[in-house]
Amino acid sequence: MSVHDVGSCAPWGPAPRINDDGESEDRRAAHRAVAWSAGGLFAAGALELAVAALGHSAGLLGDALHNLADVGTSAIVFVGLRVSRRPATASHPYGWDRAEDLSGLGVALLIWASAALALVVSVRKLLDGTTASHLGVGVVAATVAVAANVLVARYKLRVGRRIRSAALVADARHSWIDAASSAGALFGLGAVAVGLRWADGVAGLLIAGIVAHVAYGVTRDVVGRLVDAVAPETLEAAAAAATGVAGVSHVHAKGRWAGRALLVEVEGYVAPDTPVEACEHIGDEVRRAVAAAVPETRVVTFSARALEREV
Ligand SMILES: [Zn+2]
Repeated sequence: MSVHDVGSCAPWGPAPRINDDGESEDRRAAHRAVAWSAGGLFAAGALELAVAALGHSAGLLGDALHNLADVGTSAIVFVGLRVSRRPATASHPYGWDRAEDLSGLGVALLIWASAALALVVSVRKLLDGTTASHLGVGVVAATVAVAANVLVARYKLRVGRRIRSAALVADARHSWIDAASSAGALFGLGAVAVGLRWADGVAGLLIAGIVAHVAYGVTRDVVGRLVDAVAPETLEAAAAAATGVAGVSHVHAKGRWAGRALLVEVEGYVAPDTPVEACEHIGDEVRRAVAAAVPETRVVTFSARALEREV
């Protein structure tokens, strides 16, 4: 924008977005991977839930809740993603990226609730001294859940590496934990079969612990973002890139996340006699440099500061 544009300025303008992959082929591949995984896990979780109701296995119930909570997670994240892509408007000039963080809070609550339920059922089982029945069909259901989670983990890892999606690779790691959780239910039932009546309740407790651990990690991430936590290394990388632009002596960079969009503010110190048009050009170069150095960057706000005025 130059001085000639001033007369036609709108009262608000959406910030120009950079590095936005929109509905790219990679994004669609990621959505496909998440959708297929959720479908498979839903089937395995529903099977476990039915068998847990039949044989009163605390381990199977906990694992069923875990798998179904993971499916719910995918669904909530999906809705959050859709809402976050709505364009900026006069009443929402920053867009809707935060919708993703809000859906993250819903995910955290869902996972905590399933951990609590698994805990209550397992403790009750251990106090009652009752144990699981229908062990054969229970072992089959748990084996199906282990297999489903291993398949899902390998699938997400393969797609995640191909499209270089850190989120999908992290999700694959989560699925390995899920497979371990299902294996816990399987071992519990196997141990009951050889006479260790308490093993199913203990398996349920272990699974409740795993689910609580996942819930804690999700809560920490989401709450961190909502209170504007950001990794200092990320901002250091942005600052280093901006400092490399010709005409900039040094910079101060701040940033915050809105969903998966990183919003960066850069104050660049320039010679006091730098013309406004040169400052605009420097701003464009800074935007380009930061976007290249930190791919998660969506918006860069640049302000030029006169070198002498710094305190
Ligand atoms: Zn899980």
